[in-house]
Amino acid sequence: MKVWIIGLDGATFKSIDLLVKKGILPNFKYLFQNGCRAILKSTMPFFTGPAWVSMVTGVNPGKHGIFNFTKRIKGESKRRVLSSQDIKCPKIWNILNQYNKKTGMLNIPMTYPSEEVNGFMITGMMSPEINDKVSYPKNLIYEIDRYVNGYIIDIPVILEKHQSDLSIIDKLNECLFKRYKAVEFLLDNYDLDFFMVVFVILDRLHHLFWKILIHEQFVDNSFYKKVKEKLIESYSHVDEIVGKIIQRMDDKTVLFITSDHGFGDLKKGFYLNNWLISKNILRLKTRNTFKSIILSLLSERQISFIKKFIPRKLIADYKEKLLEDIIDYSKTIAYSAHSLEQGMYVNDKENKQQLLKRFLPKSHFIGVPLWTRLQIYLSILLIMDMS
Ligand SMILES: [Zn+2]
Repeated sequence: MKVWIIGLDGATFKSIDLLVKKGILPNFKYLFQNGCRAILKSTMPFFTGPAWVSMVTGVNPGKHGIFNFTKRIKGESKRRVLSSQDIKCPKIWNILNQYNKKTGMLNIPMTYPSEEVNGFMITGMMSPEINDKVSYPKNLIYEIDRYVNGYIIDIPVILEKHQSDLSIIDKLNECLFKRYKAVEFLLDNYDLDFFMVVFVILDRLHHLFWKILIHEQFVDNSFYKKVKEKLIESYSHVDEIVGKIIQRMDDKTVLFITSDHGFGDLKKGFYLNNWLISKNILRLKTRNTFKSIILSLLSERQISFIKKFIPRKLIADYKEKLLEDIIDYSKTIAYSAHSLEQGMYVNDKENKQQLLKRFLPKSHFIGVPLWTRLQIYLSILLIMDMS
C-alpha cells in the first residue's frame, strides 16, 4: 500500500463546503461522496509551524518543541528562526525509512534544512532562497527549478499591502501551478511508498480575504466582487490539482487531504499584556521612552495602522526591541509570550499558583481559557476544536 498526503494549509470545511454546495469544487465533492471526512483538531498554539510538525511527528508541541516560527535566544534581544533541527522527535519519514520505505516530501513547513532520506525532500515555508540545503538530493531543487522555469518556495503576504493589490492572487496561483508541475516531475521520477506535498495558497488567501470569501454582503461592491471571483478561481485551481493527483493514483494508493488549522472571523481580541500591566502583574522598565511603551502595548494590526503616522525608523527600532527586553523582570510575575506562541510565562511556581487563583475565575468572564502547560500537553481531554 502507498500513502499520499495533500496538505492544504489553512483549509477548512467552512469555505470548502460552501463552494462545493455552489458546484464549484467537483473533485472535493467526489472525495466527500466517495471517501470519508472529519474535523482534524489543531495544535495549541494553532499555528502553521507547530501544527504541521505535529502532523508529521504525531506528537504535540510540548513534545516536539516547536511552538512558533522563531525562538528568543536567551540573553539576546533577537529571535532566531526555528529550523528542522529544532524538532526533537522522529518524523514519519524517519520511521518509514527505517523500514526501507521510500518517501518523498515537498514543501512541508519547518523542514529546512533538508535531511537525508530514502527518496527526496524539498523544504517548505521558512526556507530561505533556493540553495543546497533546500533539497535532498542536493541537485534536485536546481533540476526542479529549471523544469518549472523558476520554482517558488513561498510568497510573502503583507496584509496592509496586499488586501488592495490583487496581483498577489496571480503570484499565489503561479506558485501553486509551479508546485504542481514539480509534483508531476517528482511522481514521474520516483516510485514512492509515501508522498506528501503542502500547498499554501488557501492560507494566504484566507489571511487576506476571508470575509469577502465567506460573507455574501461583500458582493455589492465592485472591488469585492472582483476579489471574490478571483478567490473562487484560485479555489477551482486547487480543486483541479487535487483531481489531477487523484487521477495519478493507482488502486494501491490511499489519499489523505489534511489541513493544519482552520479560519474564521475575528470577533474579539484580548491584549493579555495590557491586562497584566493594569493588574501590576507585568511591569515595564521606566527608562524606556513613552513611545516604545505605547508601541509595546499595541497589537500588530494596530501597529500597521499607526505606521502611517509614526516614522518608519521608530517602528523598525520597536520591531528590533522585543517586549521581553523592556520588561522589568525583578517586579514582573508574568507576561504574555510572543503573539504566535499564545502562552503566558510566569516567573516561578509560587507565583504561578497565585496567578492561577487570581486569573482563573476571571478568565471565563473574559472568554480566554487558561490552562497550564501540563494540562495542554499531557492531557488528551483539552484539545481545542479550531476548525
Ligand atoms: Zn497554516
